Amino acid sequence: MIDYSSFESAVGLNWYETDPHLQLLMDRHLTVGDRDFAEPLLKEFGALAGGAIAERAEMTDKNPPRLERYDRWGDEVGDVVHHPSALDTKRDLVEFGFFALERKWGRRIPQPLSAAWAYLLCQAETAMHCAMGMTTGAASVIEHAGTDEQRDRYLPLLMADEWDHFGSGAMFLTERQGGSDLGPVSTVARQRDDGAWRLDGDKWFCSNVDADVILTLARPEGAPEGTTRGLGLFLVPRRRRDGSRNGIVIKRLKDKLGTRMVPTAEVTFVDCDAELVTAPRSDLESRASDPSTARGEGGLNRMMDMVNASRRGVALMGLGIARRCFLEAAIYAHHRQAFDRPLCDWPLMRRVLVNMIVELEAAAALCFEPTGALDRLSRKEAKRGDAELVRVITPLSKLRAARRGVELATAGLEVFGGNGYIENFPMARQLRDAQCHTIWEGTENIVALDVLRSFRRDASYTALLSRLRETLATGPDALAREKNLLAGEIDRVDDATAAVLSMNSERADLRAGELAAWLADICSATLLVDTAGFALERDHDARSALVARLYVRHHLAPDRRARVVDDDDSEATHFDSLVRYAPLEVLP
Ligand SMILES: Cc1cc2nc3c(=O)[nH]c(=O)nc-3n(C[C@H](O)[C@H](O)[C@H](O)COP(=O)(O)OP(=O)(O)OC[C@H]3O[C@@H](n4cnc5c(N)ncnc54)[C@H](O)[C@@H]3O)c2cc1C
Repeated sequence: MIDYSSFESAVGLNWYETDPHLQLLMDRHLTVGDRDFAEPLLKEFGALAGGAIAERAEMTDKNPPRLERYDRWGDEVGDVVHHPSALDTKRDLVEFGFFALERKWGRRIPQPLSAAWAYLLCQAETAMHCAMGMTTGAASVIEHAGTDEQRDRYLPLLMADEWDHFGSGAMFLTERQGGSDLGPVSTVARQRDDGAWRLDGDKWFCSNVDADVILTLARPEGAPEGTTRGLGLFLVPRRRRDGSRNGIVIKRLKDKLGTRMVPTAEVTFVDCDAELVTAPRSDLESRASDPSTARGEGGLNRMMDMVNASRRGVALMGLGIARRCFLEAAIYAHHRQAFDRPLCDWPLMRRVLVNMIVELEAAAALCFEPTGALDRLSRKEAKRGDAELVRVITPLSKLRAARRGVELATAGLEVFGGNGYIENFPMARQLRDAQCHTIWEGTENIVALDVLRSFRRDASYTALLSRLRETLATGPDALAREKNLLAGEIDRVDDATAAVLSMNSERADLRAGELAAWLADICSATLLVDTAGFALERDHDARSALVARLYVRHHLAPDRRARVVDDDDSEATHFDSLVRYAPLEVLP
C-alpha cells in the first residue's frame, strides 16, 4: 500500500517504485524474460525521473532557452542558449542510453519498456520528451527510408550514448498558412546541376529548432502545387558539409504558454543545403510502370511514419501529466487539513481522487495496448490484425490521453485549492504544459478524422472490433455484468460505424469526434476488463476489477440518478484499495 502521508513531495521519490499500476502494466505486457531484464532499469530510471530530472524541470521552466541571433560583431549566429538544467538532463538521458538502447544492452528492447521510460520522463517534463522523441523519430525514418550514406552519416549522431558525440533530431512541417493541411506547403526544393538540393521557404512551428538533423517537407520545382502528392521529404543538416552554418535562419523563439524547455521557433530556409530522403508521390507514380504501386509512398507518407510514432509519444505525454497530477494531488490531500480532517478523509475529495485514478488507468490501458503489437511487428512476428490495430489505437490513444492530461491537471490543480494556481506549487506548470498535447502532432479534430480515415482505407475497423470481442470473451466472470454491457456496446458501435462509413464525407466528418470518443471509451473499458482478469487470476486481487467497473459505470452506463442515490459507496469505502493500491480480496 502506498502511504502518501509519508511523502513530503512527489519530487525526490522513485516514480516507478511508487506506482504499483505501472508495475502491473509491465507484468501484463512483458514476457517473463523481458520483465526480469526491465525491473532494475525501471527502478534506475524511476529514481532519475522522479529525482534529478523532475527537480531540474522546474528550473528550466523558469529559465527557458533564449535566442542569440547575432554575435558581438553583428554577424548572424542563430545560437539557442539553454539553461544548464536542461543540458544536464539531456546529458543524463544520452548517457542512460535512451537513444542507443539496443546497442547499450546488446539486446532487443521491448516496446512496453521503452513506453514506460517515456511515461516516467513525461511525468517530469513532457517538453524534454518532445525534444528527445523527435530524435528517435528522425533516426527511425533515416534507418528505414534513408540512403546508406545518410544512415552512415547521421545515425551515429542520433543514436549516440556519449554526450560529446550526440546530435538531436527535429521535424519542421507546419508553415504559416497551417499545420493540419499540408497540401499548400510552399517551401521550394531546387536541384542544382551537380544533383545537390537547396531549400527556400518559411516554417512556422519548429520545435527543438537547434537540432542537428532536421526532417522537413518541401516541393521540388515542377512538382504538383497545392497537394501533398507533390511533397518530398528532405533532410536538413544543421551544418553544411564544409562545417559552415547551413541556411537555417531562426527568426524568433515563440513565447509559449508551456513546454518552455524545448525551443520552438519560426525559421526561414535560405539557400539551405538539403538531402532528398523520399521523392514526392507524384514523382514515384510517374516513374512506376503501375502508378498504383506508389500508393502509401512518397514524402508525406514517410513523414507520417514519424508523425505516428510522435503521436504515440504525445499520448504518453498526456498520460505522464495525468499521473504526475494524480500523485501530486494524492500527496497534497493526505497532508492538507480542512475542517480538522485531512482532505483525503472527506467523501467528496475521495470521489475526486478515485475519478482521477480511474481515468488515468483507463487512458494508460489504451496507451500501452499497441506496444505488444509494435514489438511483434518489429520482430516480423505479427499476428493477424496487429498493423491495423496499431494504426487505429495510435490516434485513439493520442486523442484520449492528451485530453485526460488537461482534465487531470485541472482536477489536480483544484485539489491544491488556491495554491494550485500559484507558480511555485507544482500544478500550474502541468496545466500549462498539458494544453499543448491536444494540439501537437494533430489536433483533436484531426486525430478523430484520422480514426475515420483508418477505417476507410486500412480495414482497421474490423481488426479493432474483432480484437475487442476476443479480449472480452476471455474476461473474468466476476465482471459478467460489465462484459455483457460492453458486448452490447461493441455491437452498437459496430452498427454506428457502418452507418457513418456509408455517409458522404461531409456528414461522416460531422460525427467523427463522437465516434472516436465512444470507441476510446469502449477500448479502454475492454482493456481494463482484460487487466482485471489478469490480476484476479494471478494475484486474486480485485482492485483492477473495481477500477474497470467504475469506468464502465461512468462512461458506458451513465445513470445519473444511480450515481446520486445507489448503495455503492466504493469510492469512499474502498479508497485504500483504489487510491493507495491495497489489494482487494473480493469485488464488492
Ligand atoms: C508548442 C508547439 C510546438 C510545435 N512544434 C511543431 C514542430 O516542431 N513541427 C511542426 O511541424 N509543427 C509544430 N507545431 C505545430 C502543430 O503541429 C500545429 O499547430 C497543429 O498541427 C495544428 O496546425 P495549426 O496550428 O496550423 O492549426 P489549423 O490547422 O489552422 O487548425 C485550426 C483549428 O481548425 C481545426 N481543423 C483544421 N482542419 C479541420 C477539419 N478538416 N475539420 C475540422 N476541424 C479542422 C483544428 O482541429 C484546429 O482546432 C507545434 C505547435 C505547438 C503549439
